Amino acid sequence: MEKLSNPQKTIEIIKKYEFCFQKKFGQNFLIDGHVLDKIIAGAGVTKDDMVLEIGPGIGTMTQYLAEAAGSVAAVEIDRNLLPILEETLADYDNVSVIHADVLSLDLNQLVQEKNGGRPIKVVANLPYYITTPIIMALFEQHVPIANITVMVQKEVAARMKAGPGTKDYGALSLAVQYYAEPYIVANVPCNCFMPRPNVDSAVIRLTKYDTPPVAVKDETLMFKIIRASFNQRRKTLVNGLYNSPELSFTKEQIADAIAKAGLPPSIRGEALTLEQFAELTDRLAEIQK
Ligand code: SAM
Repeated sequence: MEKLSNPQKTIEIIKKYEFCFQKKFGQNFLIDGHVLDKIIAGAGVTKDDMVLEIGPGIGTMTQYLAEAAGSVAAVEIDRNLLPILEETLADYDNVSVIHADVLSLDLNQLVQEKNGGRPIKVVANLPYYITTPIIMALFEQHVPIANITVMVQKEVAARMKAGPGTKDYGALSLAVQYYAEPYIVANVPCNCFMPRPNVDSAVIRLTKYDTPPVAVKDETLMFKIIRASFNQRRKTLVNGLYNSPELSFTKEQIADAIAKAGLPPSIRGEALTLEQFAELTDRLAEIQK
């Protein structure tokens, strides 16, 4: 079958099945073979890999993944796409399509069943409304993963990669960088999709660390501290942490921990590195005991 990355083929399939794009599912299908080649190469997919694709749509990227990977599990929420996928993936016997909302699937169980618990690769042109929840779920649920290579909104990719003191730096940067090393594979203009989204996109690869780059005594407390620091970006770190409903330290305790972590009293959260957040967390964890 001719590849769906040929826009004419995509149009033909959409007409044949009278498919209606659903905005609520973030349906913008790729129609550019060069971008697909870059994604597959960026993810480093080989025949040894099992790939989880989130949201195959009509199967455009799935066709490429099926050719490059050992096997592919593609999770699609929209039942109207199932008969289409049956046709567009008929040539491949290494793809299984799962009709589900990926956010409600037990992904550890899926990896156990499909790959004997060995690390998989995740590749997706993500529906943008689930970008952060799905990436954080993959990390926080400790799903065995080698890397995640995903198309996201360009500014979200920038936030994932940002370092301290930049406007893009925030809780998402730190959460992603605690678990993985980010690398921008490609920038993708809106004319590579049908229909065109009104923002530009980027492909980002997150290579998961075997162990996080910093050691911290209480991971949950660190992420509460990080969220509190960025919730009130313009405030000093002391005030940000003191005002957080998630934390219950006195101002003196916070000021003391900041000093013991070797930080100036008027520092803002946005200036702290991951290491410094870990150090501050350990100081505050002592008080909590
Ligand atoms: N992979 C295709 C491509 O690149 O052309 C389609 C990508 S499109 C941006 C996102 C896909 O994710 C759509 O097919 C949409 O129906 C599906 N989707 C949206 N929310 C989902 C969810 N919660 N679970 C699984 N699939 C979802």
